[in-house]
Amino acid sequence: MQKNDIVELEITDMGVGGEGIGKADGLTFFVKDAIIGDRILAHITKLKKTYGYARVEELVKPSDLRCEPRCPQHRRCGGCQIQAMAPGAQLQFKQQKVRGNLIRLGGFAADFIDTVMEPIVGMDEPYRYRNKAQFPIGTDREGNPVAGFYAARTHSIIPVTDCLLGVEENRAILEMVLAYMKENGVRAYDETTGKGLIRHVLIRYGFTTKEFMVALVINGRKLPAQDKLVEQLCTIPGMKSISVNSNQENTNVILGEQTICIWGEPYITDYIHLRDCSDDRFALTDTAVAFQISPQSFYQVNPVQTEKLYSLALEYAGLTGTESVWDLYCGIGTISLFLAQKAGQVYGVEIVPQAIEDAKRNAALNGITNAQFFVGKAEEVLPEFYARNVSGAVSGGETDNAKESGVRCQGTNGDEAVSGIPTARTDTFVGDMSHPDVIVVDPPRKGCDQACLDTMLKMQPERIVYVSCDSATLARDLRILCDGGYELKRVRPVDQFGHTVHVEVVCCLHRVDL
Ligand code: SAH
Repeated sequence: MQKNDIVELEITDMGVGGEGIGKADGLTFFVKDAIIGDRILAHITKLKKTYGYARVEELVKPSDLRCEPRCPQHRRCGGCQIQAMAPGAQLQFKQQKVRGNLIRLGGFAADFIDTVMEPIVGMDEPYRYRNKAQFPIGTDREGNPVAGFYAARTHSIIPVTDCLLGVEENRAILEMVLAYMKENGVRAYDETTGKGLIRHVLIRYGFTTKEFMVALVINGRKLPAQDKLVEQLCTIPGMKSISVNSNQENTNVILGEQTICIWGEPYITDYIHLRDCSDDRFALTDTAVAFQISPQSFYQVNPVQTEKLYSLALEYAGLTGTESVWDLYCGIGTISLFLAQKAGQVYGVEIVPQAIEDAKRNAALNGITNAQFFVGKAEEVLPEFYARNVSGAVSGGETDNAKESGVRCQGTNGDEAVSGIPTARTDTFVGDMSHPDVIVVDPPRKGCDQACLDTMLKMQPERIVYVSCDSATLARDLRILCDGGYELKRVRPVDQFGHTVHVEVVCCLHRVDL
């Protein structure tokens, strides 16, 4: 067998990236776009000693788990790896992915996982769920500006103005931008030469308020004939905010540092409602938190599923109104402000200063006074706080440790120590933030840092709620927490990103001696 051969395969498994797995002649093949249950003829693209890669040449017998994908570009675009799988099969795949990681990487017994793991929460509407889209802008062979998506693992743009995961209005907005570029001779940015102006179009939509935001990311400071574009864009119903973001770096990072609002407000508003978790209908309740979202803010992209995820996190936190709670990796305070409504005091920690600004503004917007926010790394703020408030460090001074780690945190109420590290004191709250009742974490894909986990264990909260976007690092961290005196009580995946292989998980751990 060699490269470019055609081999017949029965797809018997799927990898975590959504690739089909089949065996022939003792070799394992990984096949993009093949689905468990497919019988295919595969074209070998790469061959190693024990495994190889192949692509589907012919579907001999399609799997029963297949469905008709709605997007004609789904195979070329890198976004939806499993769109050809029926919705129920996608959920099954994600449930198994989380289960498998907890067993394989977390070292939990399969029987045990089956007792604590609940069925994945699926979506009612698996298309048009995203509230944010970032379209790269390029130039086609004829020299016309195009908007679309990068083809899988490349930087060549597939022209698509209507991604089926995003809202329908994205298309009209993009067409206005492309028409403006043509009429005014405004060039798309070319990353190989560093020339040209328009790099990306960022669109955000508030599902509950129906407000739109457009930000044009440009390789410069000013948009020529800006009024002509604004005149068009503000005819879109719900348009609230138009900005220009300047990014003149040769980088894959989409947004630059500076954003100037050129029309309307610098943000849009959206509401996140608490949902009733008592059954799988997740009915809306009257409790809601309002958020002002700027172009740079992190905000969950699937607002409907986010409500289910946060409502589960809040239920797992088991709050009665008096508890002290840390919310680590708090972003713009989305979970913190939910928690604050049911807790005594919430401390949020987040590395991005702009997000903390948003969190404070959002707390004020909602009249929430029992949430404080600190800028810094969770793995630095938490240990510093603990050292300062428990190990007898001088309150109000700067410990050597703080100097070394360079921790610089900012409290909201001016009650932080000289160095800016939060202290346990607040005027209105008597709870012990060094030994909180609950710690909630929602880290990025790489999971929690060891120093953060160590301090969590020292703080000995009664409950830990772990919200994760990567079940592999989740499994690793759960093992550390369970070896440190906690028991995994509940695990529930939530499908936030239909048609992709990504899955969120919310877990609850209880201190063993309780
Ligand atoms: N809980 C928030 C955000 C979760 S995303 C929400 O649901 O909206 C993870 C967040 O962790 C991001 O906002 C990211 O900026 C932040 N982050 C990344 N590394 C961090 C670290 N070491 N310490 C604190 N926050 C961090």
